Amino acid sequence: MKERAFGNGREGDDVIMGVLFDNATIVTMNADRDILHDAAMYVDEDRIIEIGDARELKEKYAATADRVIDAKDKVLFPGFINTHSHSVALSCRGRAEDVSNWDAIWGVMGSIRDNMTGDDCYVSSRLAYVEMLKSGITTVADSGAHMLRVGEAAIETGIRAFLHQGFRDADIAVLRDEGRYEYAMERGMRGLQEAVDLVESMHGREDGRIRCLLGPQTIDTVSPELLRATRKEADRLGVGVTIHLSQNEKEPKQSLEAWGDLPGPVMEKAGFLGPDFIGAHAIFLEDADIAALARNGCSISHNPQINAKRAHIAPVSDMIEAGINVGLGSDNMFYDMLEVIKTAGIVWRLRVKDPTVPDPATVVEMATINGARALGIDDVVGSLEEGKVADVVMVNYARARYTPRVRENVLSNLVHFGAADDVALTMVGGRVLVDDHRFVGGNEQTILEEAQQSGTEVWARAKAEWQQRMTGK
Ligand SMILES: [Zn+2]
Repeated sequence: MKERAFGNGREGDDVIMGVLFDNATIVTMNADRDILHDAAMYVDEDRIIEIGDARELKEKYAATADRVIDAKDKVLFPGFINTHSHSVALSCRGRAEDVSNWDAIWGVMGSIRDNMTGDDCYVSSRLAYVEMLKSGITTVADSGAHMLRVGEAAIETGIRAFLHQGFRDADIAVLRDEGRYEYAMERGMRGLQEAVDLVESMHGREDGRIRCLLGPQTIDTVSPELLRATRKEADRLGVGVTIHLSQNEKEPKQSLEAWGDLPGPVMEKAGFLGPDFIGAHAIFLEDADIAALARNGCSISHNPQINAKRAHIAPVSDMIEAGINVGLGSDNMFYDMLEVIKTAGIVWRLRVKDPTVPDPATVVEMATINGARALGIDDVVGSLEEGKVADVVMVNYARARYTPRVRENVLSNLVHFGAADDVALTMVGGRVLVDDHRFVGGNEQTILEEAQQSGTEVWARAKAEWQQRMTGK
């Protein structure tokens, strides 16, 4: 039996097999960023065994492979990595898109989440994960409520997940209702303990397919003492850390007022930053923030769609120029990576007013290898290379959107025109979860119907509360 420390979490003969992708174009995202044509890739169990010339590999593997996939007119990419998401927020869809950042986070979304039971969280996450897989996402960093139930959804759907549960020492009710910050370390430590409990019960499950992070919520709601305590626990548990970073103007303002410095330097002084740190959003950054993040080898999850929807654009080119590793995240309500990829290129251009940047390769890097690096798994996934774990997405280019398709426009066509509907196959750890554009890891129709039912009931329960919250101030 091969070592399966980072596999797909399925034992025995269940769906694990030798798969030959024949006649493919392969976007490797290896160190040389090679794009191979007339190529083939052989996967056995959870690993990529060989990548090379189609004719040679066919001769070698076709007879013994359990399955040969004719990838003519299809392009293989490394599985997309979603570095920041809240799958339970699927139930907030259509309610939190047209309000301010502040009202969304502390108002309507809170009122919906507070009305979600463990079952509600499980069924909405499950549908969000199916949607992610169908857009080529193979790994997601995810937080929300009832995370043990969310973990069940991740285990069941087959997605690779980094789960975490938010906590803070500021009193959310006081912040929401009175607009002021009231901190209590005891509250923060209680939250941290719950987050640690999640790590202890979930981290490493399913052969390591399920992992965890520690994620205090936002820099304005978390004290430097709590950051310090979190770092200590993260190091003890061997997990990375993440935080919502300067997603709105109030965060750096409150950081200066309460902690006497900007978020970057505050986190640095608390020993919270490092190569295992992911800051989500990073919109309202000052030079001192960028310098602190760069100095400590940090990563950022850029979430262009939700940012743009809330009328913000993060300074991505400044961060990359400073040497910060930037991955892509979908955040709330959006779970379609092709939309995220497309928007990332567009908002970058709007911010710097230059249509020549970023080049498509940079955007694909953000969606793949950079995301893997942010999560500390770039040695096992994030590129298609021999010996790596087989997290693969196969995109069907035989469509109007990609026509004409020539060797020179493979990346450009994906970034500018790609749509989730084009994802023909998604494989996580060698296990095919989306096949012929359909989710095959479970009954998609039932998953959809149960989320619809649950979401409708949650809205009915939450409505009275959000009306009061939005108007009662
Ligand atoms: Zn978030």
